Amino acid sequence: MEDVQQPKPASSTSRRRQDYLEWPEYFMAVAFLSAQRSKDPSSQVGACIVNQENKIVGIGYNGMPNGCDDDELPWSRCDDNWLDTKYPYVCHAELNAIMNKNSADVKGCTMYVALFPCNECAKLIIQAGIKEVVFLSDKYHDTPGMAASRRLLTMAGIEYRQFKPKRSKIVIDFNSINHPGMLNSTTE
Ligand SMILES: [Zn+2]
Repeated sequence: MEDVQQPKPASSTSRRRQDYLEWPEYFMAVAFLSAQRSKDPSSQVGACIVNQENKIVGIGYNGMPNGCDDDELPWSRCDDNWLDTKYPYVCHAELNAIMNKNSADVKGCTMYVALFPCNECAKLIIQAGIKEVVFLSDKYHDTPGMAASRRLLTMAGIEYRQFKPKRSKIVIDFNSINHPGMLNSTTE
């Protein structure tokens, strides 16, 4: 009599996870996690630069320049005196991600960033040789700075596209590592 092997019922841990983070979600999440380092009370932005092998080569968030005490510099958005606002001093996430690069250069890389880059950052992105920008929010779309940014990026042939996340939230639960089989991140 032929021995017919019954297919084993697949258990939840014998197959690969289905809801793992895909690369774009992962890189955008890294940008958002980095933003949590920001001390800016009104705006926390992160950026993550990725090379063509999907390796992260730079991460940054908005903050005051190195060696400049962020308790002494102003964080306000408006003041009669421009010098008492954050704007002349703060380094945007894109600048920090480029300057923090751990590779020789960032030519041909993609930048994941929470907010569409301003015109000053567009200049840096172009000069650094970054080829693609993936952003999540474009909430300042109608400001002159963003119009200038789009103009520069388009002229320089840099592609930009809005990231549409499949899930609205990624929660990191440090306790999940103590529960075998549980996801290390819960998602919605
Ligand atoms: Zn900027």
